[in-house]
Amino acid sequence: MKKVHNFNAGPCVLPEQAVNNAIEALKDFRGTGMPVISVSHRSKEWSAVMDECRALWRELLNIPDTHEVLFMGGGASLQFLCVPMNLLENKAGYLESGVWAKKALKEAKGIGNAYAVASSAESTYNYIPKGYEIPSDLDYFHITTNNTIYGTEIKEDMDCPVPLVADMSSDIMSRPVDVSKYGIIYGGAQKNVGPAGVAFAIVRKDILGKVSRHIPSMLDYRVFIDGGSMFNTPPVFPIYVMYETLKWLKGIGGVEAIHKINRKKADMLYAEIDRNSLFVGTAAKEDRSDMNVCFVMAPGHEALQDEFLEFAKGKGMVGVKGHRSVGGFRASIYNACPVESVQALIDCMQEFESLKK
Ligand SMILES: *Cc1c(COP(=O)(O)O)cnc(C)c1O
Repeated sequence: MKKVHNFNAGPCVLPEQAVNNAIEALKDFRGTGMPVISVSHRSKEWSAVMDECRALWRELLNIPDTHEVLFMGGGASLQFLCVPMNLLENKAGYLESGVWAKKALKEAKGIGNAYAVASSAESTYNYIPKGYEIPSDLDYFHITTNNTIYGTEIKEDMDCPVPLVADMSSDIMSRPVDVSKYGIIYGGAQKNVGPAGVAFAIVRKDILGKVSRHIPSMLDYRVFIDGGSMFNTPPVFPIYVMYETLKWLKGIGGVEAIHKINRKKADMLYAEIDRNSLFVGTAAKEDRSDMNVCFVMAPGHEALQDEFLEFAKGKGMVGVKGHRSVGGFRASIYNACPVESVQALIDCMQEFESLKK
């Protein structure tokens, strides 16, 4: 197989061990003589996977008993709707720190009264808004902890006078999180915890059941809590790969261990961007994401953009092109992206610089 360095933003690189174990489970799932995608989701073998997967979530993130871990279809984008459906009665506030945040807000506006408490739209979301106050009469306050497209990240668990809801699609399990500070943490699996096709929601039970609207079953967190995320047929294969991905994470020492590696990878790459005369970072330094590193050609070198992309491609780099809405470059360096890949990209940038001198 061709050797590549995969910097895709999602779907993206997953741990080799998880992928290989998933392939084995496609051949013979736990001695059943059937592929994992052919067993009944009500079988004891599959129920065990659901239980073990939930247990891994609880253990890795130290999730307290006040919160339930749910697996749902529809990706993070359906969670944009589930959150207001389950929580919005009077008013919800959103931190508009990027396009995903804006999309989440749009869904809430379709359900009720929701607005942006603060926004960094005026500077293409290149920083995290600060210095705003969270009104205490909100039903909830919604943040996007990592802005995948713009490469900014909220790395601390904030204090919030109302239930805090966080889209952690692209930084879940990348660092320790104090789950007790959140009402809901949700995201699509396909950045740090698995393939596309399953979303996770970590829900504090006592904030549910307070809205007057009818909630369709498939959007109702209480239905998923009662049914153990098997109200209907769950996305079995994405959940299986997620389970293997979390097993891998536990095996290498869990969230604290991966956080150290993630910090190192991000520091290495940002240091090169700051050093290299051909490139500049686009995100405000204090808000730089550990997961998505965004940069462009330095002023005066803009014309080299396509040439660098071609050069990088020739060296085995995949997915370094920036999001179509912002251009430039983006290297997504999620949990499963090895340090060697980050080093290979740095080597590539240095080599390109010396060619152009
Ligand atoms: C990728 C992403 C989404 C969208 O996820 P889907 O599962 O495709 O709906 C939402 N929010 C953030 C922060 C993302 O990175």
